[in-house]
Amino acid sequence: MEKRDALYAGKAKSVYRTDDPGRLILHFRDDTSAFDGKRKEALARKGMVNNKFNAFIMGKLEEAGIPTHFEKLLSDTECVVKKLDMIPVECVVRNLAAGGLVRRLGVEEGIVLDPPTYELFLKNDDKGDPMINESLAETFGWATPAQLERMKALTFRVNDVLKNLFLEGGMLLVDYKLEFGMVDGEVVLGDEFSPDGCRLWDARTREKMDKDRFRQGLGGVIEAYEEVGRRLGIDFA
Ligand code: 5GP
Repeated sequence: MEKRDALYAGKAKSVYRTDDPGRLILHFRDDTSAFDGKRKEALARKGMVNNKFNAFIMGKLEEAGIPTHFEKLLSDTECVVKKLDMIPVECVVRNLAAGGLVRRLGVEEGIVLDPPTYELFLKNDDKGDPMINESLAETFGWATPAQLERMKALTFRVNDVLKNLFLEGGMLLVDYKLEFGMVDGEVVLGDEFSPDGCRLWDARTREKMDKDRFRQGLGGVIEAYEEVGRRLGIDFA
């Protein structure tokens, strides 16, 4: 497969065309950003760690029957994915209260959310990824009712798979964000799953092991990501 020109550069990943119109290459960079890109820093090894982490998780989700865009690892920092027509809606499930939910509702961080909550956000940095709902998504044409229903079902199936996977490694999956796209008429999981887009706490100490370490200036960001990977048996060598 031949790598062609860059199609798009996001905050942490760049996307390249290939000689196959149905396939793209994702390049995971070391760049880290928070607060809708207002804070940026390059963290050594992050691209490699997130690329391998994402490959491992996407593999687990595929094994569980969840369709993903992931095809194969290409290098330490690159993978091949199916080209999706992306739906500009971020789907968030929360098992424990943290982050935006705590800020918005003033509930105590760490309370168990039973049943887990489900929220939608519009993917739009300029507007700060505002919270939306299914009615707004349908009216403004961001997603159809059928797509919204499928996205919700798949986002909760991901929770069933990953909550247990992380718990086996002594970690709590606090919350996470997923993005979906369309290929061949099917809703498919796109983007990435890494500690950049989820919250993971040590189950015993509740120590943060995710991007909140960067957002909150706690340090040891990549060390924490690598520890998450080590507990799942991922080889970053
Ligand atoms: P919150 O709404 O609490 O800020 O985020 C909920 C979850 O979704 C967190 O795990 C957070 O990392 C993830 N998330 C939400 N929006 C984004 C985003 O634009 N980028 C990334 N990397 N993660 C996001």
